[in-house]
Amino acid sequence: MSSLPWARSRRFALREFDAQDLESLVEMHRDARLREHLVDDYPMHLVPVVRVFLERMAQIYRHHEGLGIWPATLLEPEPAFAGWFSLMPIAGRSGEVEIGSRLLPRAWGSGLALDETGFIATGATLQSSSHPEVFAVGDVATRSDAPHPKSGVYAVRAGPPLALNLRRFVAGGHLVRYLPQPRSLNLLACGERYAIGSWGDWSFEGRWVWWWKDRIDRAFVARYR
Ligand SMILES: Cc1cc2nc3c(=O)[nH]c(=O)nc-3n(C[C@H](O)[C@H](O)[C@H](O)COP(=O)(O)OP(=O)(O)OC[C@H]3O[C@@H](n4cnc5c(N)ncnc54)[C@H](O)[C@@H]3O)c2cc1C
Repeated sequence: MSSLPWARSRRFALREFDAQDLESLVEMHRDARLREHLVDDYPMHLVPVVRVFLERMAQIYRHHEGLGIWPATLLEPEPAFAGWFSLMPIAGRSGEVEIGSRLLPRAWGSGLALDETGFIATGATLQSSSHPEVFAVGDVATRSDAPHPKSGVYAVRAGPPLALNLRRFVAGGHLVRYLPQPRSLNLLACGERYAIGSWGDWSFEGRWVWWWKDRIDRAFVARYR
């Protein structure tokens, strides 16, 4: 019998893989539309390979609590195997995990609101415009209410309010509204110790701009040594 679901969202239920999933996995990896998107070349459409995968997964569940690859059941219109979601330990990088998913076409299209260029549309509380349980900041997100460039400055500053809102969301507290700064200093090194920069409507360039950027970058890196 299949293992019981241990996580459930509006669309999916996740459980652990077991031997009975062999056939579904083989079939899944014979789907040409799915294969088109794979970046590895494991021949998961072959029974012996899937058997090894399932044995390895059983070991991961045992030795890395909370990590692994979990089969997803699409709940609507009727329960159906839809692929997997994963949180896998990264070899040689203790404490880091790789987040992933591999879904059959029947589960494609999450309904997550995106901007016209494909980034996650968010609002003042850093929640997705369509899914309040999804939060996004940095390069993957676009603030629909306060658009700004995608740069490290904005990504870093959105970190603390993001962390606060995640904690409050889980605890059922009031979420803070975060307003990004209206402009930022942009400095772009062009090689040959030359850089260009902008601040609002102003732009400037020269060796001195490169030197300025170099100072800022070195000071930033030094904080993490
Ligand atoms: C060459 C270059 C120079 C830049 N210079 C500047 C600059 O001088 N000043 C400035 O403000 N901005 C600069 N930027 C932009 C800045 O780097 C980004 O805006 C910023 O890093 C965005 O932060 P982020 O956390 O959103 O994304 P990222 O910094 O891209 O972080 C995303 C992280 O997710 C990890 N990841 C991806 N997929 C997975 C997965 N499946 N599982 C687990 N982890 C995953 C990645 O490895 C990465 O560590 C530069 C960008 C580039 C490319």
